[in-house]
Amino acid sequence: MSSRPCWVEIDTGALKENFGLLRSMAGSETECMAVVKADAYGHGLRVCAPAAVDAGAGWLGVTSVEEGVAVRALCPKARILVMGGLFPGQGGAVIAHGLTPAVWDAWQAAELKSAAKGAAIGGGGLPVHVEIDTGMSRQGVSLDDLPAFLAHFDAGSPLRVEAVMTHLSASDEAGTPRTATQLAKLEEALRCIAGHAGAALEPVWLSVGASAALLTGGSEIVKLARRWKLRPMLRFGLALYGIPPQFAPAFARGEEPDALRKAQAQLQPVLAWKSRVASVASVQAGTEIGYNGTFVATEPMRLALVAAGYADGLDRRLGNRFSLLVHGQRAPLVGRVSMDQCVVDVTEIDGVEPGDEVVMLGCQGGECISAYDHAQVSGTIPWEVFTRIGARVERIGV
Ligand SMILES: *Cc1c(COP(=O)(O)O)cnc(C)c1O
Repeated sequence: MSSRPCWVEIDTGALKENFGLLRSMAGSETECMAVVKADAYGHGLRVCAPAAVDAGAGWLGVTSVEEGVAVRALCPKARILVMGGLFPGQGGAVIAHGLTPAVWDAWQAAELKSAAKGAAIGGGGLPVHVEIDTGMSRQGVSLDDLPAFLAHFDAGSPLRVEAVMTHLSASDEAGTPRTATQLAKLEEALRCIAGHAGAALEPVWLSVGASAALLTGGSEIVKLARRWKLRPMLRFGLALYGIPPQFAPAFARGEEPDALRKAQAQLQPVLAWKSRVASVASVQAGTEIGYNGTFVATEPMRLALVAAGYADGLDRRLGNRFSLLVHGQRAPLVGRVSMDQCVVDVTEIDGVEPGDEVVMLGCQGGECISAYDHAQVSGTIPWEVFTRIGARVERIGV
């Protein structure tokens, strides 16, 4: 540890076991992509991408060409899907680093074709995943525009459709029709593609669904893939990092799918976020603590200063509303969280000294703080809790 002690520990063994569990749940005909976008959900690409490959992931999912280039340097053999698409001028980098882009706009296809020509790539030599907008209206080619888009894959094109892909907007909703509606639209797209036959239009994979889709069984996706003689591909993020998505609306008690129960019982959180006590002080009753005196000591108190603040990702909304772990006990955050520091009440915890470990997220003794605990108080979701952990917080594989 170099200097300021605020760090993240990544349990690579847990990550590998999670991948193995998800893969066994998905079944052998399904390809499981490990999603490592946004610095592996804030867990650190350098540690997590090679661990996912070690666990057997053949595919890694990233957002951008830049992230793809970073993953390529770590994982020379993995297939890398650039899920967020490319930007003008990035066709050459896609080819040079062996990335596989999601494409849905005509200009993206044109950019890739001209880069392929420059690299002397022959017919069908550059695989892409065509994204269909089936209802999320975020990215993807619409069903109306699909026939014209498919002309980019006509005979002689260097582009080849390796997968047909879509993203579900509500696979974490129990009992709403959104996913079924999206899958019906996806089937229309597959019908359109099949009717436009050409050598470069014979996809191998149907890439649909994230963590939540598997935990509800994923069986409709598998059936759809089978009907069109495709192999299903699922793209796991949150579950890979050991957090099962929560469903809202939730399943009725007793009606949770088996896959969800299994995941809840067996996934292991991968990340722990820690700091240390910088100093300890006693204050008198009536002392104001932190910016604007939002906490006033009601009695003589012992306070510990902790080297973690909102610049490290510790949400400012946690001030006066959350506890950290010290000596395996809950120490309430008193006053506002500052940029680089926060203060916890250790009056009830004996013998706290400078240098003692503080857990912001993870377990200590028998107590644990989860990403859901943070999310609930911050008014957000675990995905954001993780990805907001600051870049200056070192990620260490353990
Ligand atoms: C982030 C992302 C995923 C993974 O989502 P999780 O819910 O974290 O499993 C899958 N597919 C796409 C396109 C994504 O952007």
